[in-house]
Amino acid sequence: MSAFDTVLVVDWSGGNDRGPTPVKDAIWACIARDGRTEEPVYLRNRQVAEDWIAALLDREIAAGRRTLAGFDFPFGYPKGFCRALTGSDDPLALWSWLEARVEDSPQANNRFDLAGEINRGFGGSGPFWFNGLQRDIDGLPKTKDGYRNSFPERRACETRAKGSFTCWQLGGSGAVGGQVLTGLPVLERLRRRFGARAWPFEPLDAHVALIEVWPSLILGKEPEGRIRDAWQVREITRALSALAPDTLAAMLDVEAPEEGWILGLGHEAALDAARRAPPLLRNDCFALPPGVDWTPVSDALAMLRQKIAPVAAVAQATVSSAAGRIAAEDVTARRANPPHPNAAVDGYGFAGGRDEGHHEMQLVEGRAAAGDAPGAVPAGHAVRILTGAALPQGVDTVVLQEDVTVTDGRVAFRGPVRAGANTRKAGEDVQRGDVVLHQGRRIGAADAALLSACGVAEVSVHAPLRVAVLSTGDELCEAGSEAAPGQIHDANRPMLLELLRGFGHDPVDGGRVGDDRDRLRAALDAASETADAILTSGGASAGDEDHVSALLTETGSMALWRIAVKPGRPLALGLWRGKPVFGLPGNPVAAMVCTLIFARPALSVLAGGVWTEPQGFMVPAGFSKRKKPGRSEFLRARMRDGKAEVFASEGSGRISGLSWAEGLVELPMDGMEIAPGTPVRYIPFGSFGLRS
Ligand code: AMP
Ligand code: MG
Repeated sequence: MSAFDTVLVVDWSGGNDRGPTPVKDAIWACIARDGRTEEPVYLRNRQVAEDWIAALLDREIAAGRRTLAGFDFPFGYPKGFCRALTGSDDPLALWSWLEARVEDSPQANNRFDLAGEINRGFGGSGPFWFNGLQRDIDGLPKTKDGYRNSFPERRACETRAKGSFTCWQLGGSGAVGGQVLTGLPVLERLRRRFGARAWPFEPLDAHVALIEVWPSLILGKEPEGRIRDAWQVREITRALSALAPDTLAAMLDVEAPEEGWILGLGHEAALDAARRAPPLLRNDCFALPPGVDWTPVSDALAMLRQKIAPVAAVAQATVSSAAGRIAAEDVTARRANPPHPNAAVDGYGFAGGRDEGHHEMQLVEGRAAAGDAPGAVPAGHAVRILTGAALPQGVDTVVLQEDVTVTDGRVAFRGPVRAGANTRKAGEDVQRGDVVLHQGRRIGAADAALLSACGVAEVSVHAPLRVAVLSTGDELCEAGSEAAPGQIHDANRPMLLELLRGFGHDPVDGGRVGDDRDRLRAALDAASETADAILTSGGASAGDEDHVSALLTETGSMALWRIAVKPGRPLALGLWRGKPVFGLPGNPVAAMVCTLIFARPALSVLAGGVWTEPQGFMVPAGFSKRKKPGRSEFLRARMRDGKAEVFASEGSGRISGLSWAEGLVELPMDGMEIAPGTPVRYIPFGSFGLRS
């Protein structure tokens, strides 16, 4: 038997709807995929749970994945009951029998009445007991007083499972009887709908295996502050998903044709060992370790924003040389734009509008062209005027040259013509004294135009921020050089240098150092001499070879930011000789995303600029993804046919995906079920100031 791709464990409940807020003694479910255990999911009632499970199985089956679905209630009753009730020894006949009779809704179900009915068929004092309702039910004893049961009290497995309850008891603390009556009909529907196989009654040769589990087999009391059921499903899910295929096969190999069995009974040590085993080496090295507080991206950005201030020096620059620099102060217009009223077209100018009908005017000598000092036009006269010409005195309206005839020094046209037509008013764009450039703005081509138009010759700007880039790692060799065995070419440094150029900073190549603390110290010293800020990549975690972290820690300024982001890894932040250091992850994808999301706005502020938030756009997804809650995710993406498509692999070493992408899709902290058409936030690389 091949191993399972997905493990689902459900802690069932016989109670009614428990409301929207997660509580204990409700239904809890947990999933592990490919050995990675997700957070438990709260399911407020059985109907919600059944839909949720069905949706999961739909997805897993569609993806060709096999699912082990564990449920924490007995799959069968003690020997003899099944035949007595249904006429067959096949427990699945009992599942079907119950499915046909149990009525269940979020507010009420008929399990006590049904149990009374069954009891009456057996004489009326057993096998079921306990009544959770106010009213009496004929044949259903409320307590064990007067209770008689002609069937065994326990299944064979329960006589071995210390502390287990009998399925005859329908309620009261720890009882499981209600779960069986409400659970088996659901399992029966899953069998029918998905061709699921029930263990140990059928061979597990389909996509879904329904398996009986019992958390108390290996679990004691939950840790302080945890919801017991949530903790239990997670632990059991982890244990089952971590089992070696042979071990699982041995556990599944039981003979219990009628009553069923508890998975792992007799193998408790192995099950518990699987639960406690360190997580398997995973493809996804960014999985969040349990129990660590991860800072949401927005909080991290807010904290970063608070801690950063401009460091770049200030100097005067002429407008023509200021493009690309950041304004160090607000700049006001010294002159209005336009400075004087002027003609917007080539035509004939005069005073006032004209009504409908034919109009004729005497033309004055000469013309008014752009650059001419404005003359004067007598009342009732018109003047030939060209685009951009300052309006002469006595002119406030221009008629288009295409709309007139000129004969014998007279201009004729048909009205109406609105007063002021085809002219531009003084200051209609900018008034003298308006702020035309705000402190912190990076001056672009259009700003240079505006400043010039408004009579500004010089502006005070920040010197370019010099940012050193340093790669760390023994495995790195220089791009283009011959790589020794075990070496890879340094991909981050060329990338980061170019990113910085795109952000408008002055990149400084700080070189490459191996995993050697003294050499790294010397490299940081050198970088801090020449640069205003330092970006390092690699060695930023807390491992043996994470020398960036170690050195920054020595300075006492180090903070390891655990940010809930994928791709991520802790971001080491600190100061080296007063210069801010961003210790980026080594993985190129993580290094780029962290640079775009965290380093870019921070560097912008250091450079004297504003805190930059990349402009994103809500667009329809062109992909499907199930995103788990708890961290933001940035996917390499691009727009095609109006939809955001994402790179096939999320592996953070996949540099080809970075190159393929033209932007990022940002997914928020919440869990998300994305299907084609779901709105997602797309941030084009252009929003980060990048060219592609
Ligand atoms: P580190 O953050 O040092 O643990 O490195 C994480 C991963 O990124 C390792 O697989 C490194 O080999 C890889 N890596 C580190 N620096 C670079 C780099 N400059 N270019 C390409 N890969 C790198
Ligand atoms: Mg390294």
